[in-house]
Amino acid sequence: MAQCTLKPDMEFVRELQAAGGETLKKCYQCATCSVACPISPANNPYPRKEMVWASWGLKDKLRTDIDLWLCHNCGNCADLCPRGARPADLMGAARNMVYKELTEPAVVGKWMSSPKGLPVLFAIPAVLWLVIWWIRAGFNGGQWFPRAADGRIVFGQIFYGDYTIDPIFMITFFGACFILYKGVRKLFGMFKPEGKLLVIGKTKPWYMHLYDVIVEEIITHKKFSECGADKSDRKIGHMAVFYSFVILAIVTAIVAGGHWVGKVIPWLKVETPMPLTYPIKVLANVGALALLYGLGSLTLRRRKLNPKYQASSFYDWYLLGIIWAVALSGVLSQVFRLMDAVKPAFCVYYLHLVFVWMLFAYLPWSKLGHFVYRTAALVYVRMYGRS
Ligand code: SF4
Ligand code: SF4
Repeated sequence: MAQCTLKPDMEFVRELQAAGGETLKKCYQCATCSVACPISPANNPYPRKEMVWASWGLKDKLRTDIDLWLCHNCGNCADLCPRGARPADLMGAARNMVYKELTEPAVVGKWMSSPKGLPVLFAIPAVLWLVIWWIRAGFNGGQWFPRAADGRIVFGQIFYGDYTIDPIFMITFFGACFILYKGVRKLFGMFKPEGKLLVIGKTKPWYMHLYDVIVEEIITHKKFSECGADKSDRKIGHMAVFYSFVILAIVTAIVAGGHWVGKVIPWLKVETPMPLTYPIKVLANVGALALLYGLGSLTLRRRKLNPKYQASSFYDWYLLGIIWAVALSGVLSQVFRLMDAVKPAFCVYYLHLVFVWMLFAYLPWSKLGHFVYRTAALVYVRMYGRS
């Protein structure tokens, strides 16, 4: 008879407990959570098996587990656990530990995992944009708060788009995409042995499954309707944030595209700053309002969570906090500009650039990176027939 050797890793158990899975030892494996989970498949369901692997220290089983990425962290299972073991938090903590492994350099993941890392995370872009401000002020005859020739406040006087904002954000964005691409490849490599066990035959090519995931799950947020006691709150908050990002991405693409294309085809040029009634500006403000609404709704929901059933990690608060900082600094810099308050306008705009950089540069280590990894995992499971 073949022998199966289990390799418990007690250090891993301690790390998992410290990362948010502190209740895992309470589990007595009754499987109520797997029955309570509305989206877990009937075949080999979660999260009971993950609770067992975690408490036995089976690191390799847990880190290569596809089902970690299928959990939507709704907390249904935790509400019904008779032992108060919070399996939803365990699934989240295990995912956070896998992120750290997937995304390099690992030191950024370490900074991102606790409030202690925040000063470093903030200092990097704060110094970068301050140096740019200082250099540009030098070109403006030492003026840190210059006005345009017609007296208006134009942020481009200091933070010049062509040589600072556009190249810095392009490099940051594509750098984050590359890190995520490497992470997704690593994730698929980790799934491979599991995938082979799941195989019922590859069906369609991966891009067709990606299309299905985008249409059936991301655009409609269908799974959010299926799990959690506060289904509608959570779904509406997430959708408001998601669609506001889509709107703001479209606006950014139009403004940046119009700026660069306008150099060759002058009638396509998009001038900034735009009047408030300009259609693209109206669209941007609709996006900003949707973002504020979604953020308010998700922040209230998180504050209302009962810690007995579901706790919030630093990852949860970091993402909400940085999006709040981006949204408020964006709105406030616009308000100060319209009020003609030149010093507050430039200072808040500087902070806005710092926060936007933090959002994009640290994306692969944040919960937004999780969105990419979850999408990749959903494509993978569909390719291999787990549904
Ligand atoms: S986590 Fe709770 S519900 Fe799930 S198996 Fe353990 S004791 Fe049972
Ligand atoms: S948190 Fe929700 S989706 Fe995740 S295992 Fe529990 S019930 Fe299922």
